[in-house]
Amino acid sequence: MEEKKLRQEWDASDRGGASRPSRGLHWMLRVKQVLHPICVLVLILTTGYTFYNNHFGHSSNLPSKYVPQCPAQEVISPKAHPSITERNVERLFKSSEFKELSIERLSGAVKIPTEDFDDMGPVTEDKRWDVFFDLAQYFKDTFPLLHEKLELETVNVHGLLYTWRGSNSSLQPILLTGHQDVVPIAEDTKPQWKNPPFSGYFDGTYINGRGSHDCKNNLLAMFSAVTALLEAGFQPQRTVVLGFGFDEESPQGYGALEIAKHLENVWGQDSFAIIVDEGAIGINKMYGRSFANPQASEKGYMDLLVRVHVPGGHSSMAPPHTSIGILSEVVTVLENEARTNFPSRFTSNNPFYYQLHCAAEDPQTDISAPLRKAIKKSDGSKEVVDLLSHDFASDVYLRTSQAVTIFKSGSKANVLPQFAEALVNYRISNEETLLDVRSALIDTVKPVAEKHNLEFVTRDEKDNATAYLPEGTLSLSWWRSLEPSPVSTHKSNSWRYFSGVIKHVFDEPGDGNDVVVTPALAQGNTDTKYFWNLSAQIYRFGPLRAWHDKGWGGLHDVNERISWDAHMESILFYHEFIRVFDEADL
Ligand SMILES: [Zn+2]
Repeated sequence: MEEKKLRQEWDASDRGGASRPSRGLHWMLRVKQVLHPICVLVLILTTGYTFYNNHFGHSSNLPSKYVPQCPAQEVISPKAHPSITERNVERLFKSSEFKELSIERLSGAVKIPTEDFDDMGPVTEDKRWDVFFDLAQYFKDTFPLLHEKLELETVNVHGLLYTWRGSNSSLQPILLTGHQDVVPIAEDTKPQWKNPPFSGYFDGTYINGRGSHDCKNNLLAMFSAVTALLEAGFQPQRTVVLGFGFDEESPQGYGALEIAKHLENVWGQDSFAIIVDEGAIGINKMYGRSFANPQASEKGYMDLLVRVHVPGGHSSMAPPHTSIGILSEVVTVLENEARTNFPSRFTSNNPFYYQLHCAAEDPQTDISAPLRKAIKKSDGSKEVVDLLSHDFASDVYLRTSQAVTIFKSGSKANVLPQFAEALVNYRISNEETLLDVRSALIDTVKPVAEKHNLEFVTRDEKDNATAYLPEGTLSLSWWRSLEPSPVSTHKSNSWRYFSGVIKHVFDEPGDGNDVVVTPALAQGNTDTKYFWNLSAQIYRFGPLRAWHDKGWGGLHDVNERISWDAHMESILFYHEFIRVFDEADL
């Protein structure tokens, strides 16, 4: 539907483009009386081209036609089993009993404090993991039918892997995932919580508590959706796998990593038709209308520790530069060179490219005229970069970001600090690799070491990156390194069905209330970083509308919450997603 509209828009603008030279034609008519008809033709063409080029800014001699880049916008709803639509979508999900039941189910899960601390030891040794037994038991008690019909395996004790075996084993399975753990409550933030962090209190609009949004909403919505399908007698043809890790919020690798390995053993590489994990809030008001932004790729990640180690001593015997001064110089040069080291780029390798093209192609969006024009130009990428360079929130999608987040040194007024260290956090764009980033950093920082006669050392995880080096060193240590993820293509059947079901669930009645679905880029990372081997079609998506809560739901913050509207539409999304993929021709 949307695509047709866009094409009409473009046909119209093409006509406009062709009609302008007719002013030249009008002028030519007077000349016609004195010139030979062939000369007239030549002049018309020349004048027309010149006019076109002058007014439409094409640098080449031949005008190039814009080829729409925004993915097709198609609504795909389940066709089989209309009785399930009738029973669940039309009646059950709209009933107050189901609303109350769903709120109660989510609230009960929030009450179980599955906090995940950065320093957690192995699952069999650290008692703090035991609370996850309570959550697994809660799921069993709350969803008995699901636990009767689906196969449940536990992976590394607390990983929960459910298999809903399809009747046709030749169809590729689908994988829906999320995590059971939640961000811990910092002691000093407790007074700022309006309700106790694990109350699960429903205030009439929101279910409150840590994990209500991130991401027990997703887990409970999946459980409720599958249960409703089971109650309606639905039996999938295509196997549905639900996998829930338990350490997404910390760097241990005990949960989803083990689930991923297990799935690869059981199903093999590239075995899943699609994987959908948690993601940023999926439906947002952008560019003056509604956009759905399934994240088709994640930026890479790296922490850089810069450490200066020099002799200490009494402050009265001060050298020209202390470790703090030298480290400051490093930080300054890193920040000054960031634009050169990590330039912004606007290329089709970046999912954000398609988001901007969708915004430019849609006549209802409110992006600025210069930006719209630049996006649509075949050679407009530099202009797009320039135009967005002052828009911090957009520019960060076009490049590797760098943030100096920790700076530590010094302990006493009269003591020369031996050590100074800074931590710099990188989110690496699809255009670069870890190696590119490290090379740029070495070239930038090494001259500072040389200037101060310090030995320059680089290290990574396997070199014991954080161990202390001898006096007289300036070291760069990188760890927690992750390459940018592969980009899932929207030129696939999986995308077609996925984006189609998003429109089916989130389009609203009324002109201009339909949702533009476009691939997006995730700035942060999810458990999908472990799943790259399992599918080429991996998306991160929060199936809910942002405007249910202006405060972003207190994600990783105090007063986390989710509205029951949002939870209901998450249930509906997974319900319809499973049905559409069951019928999909993949
Ligand atoms: Zn999460």
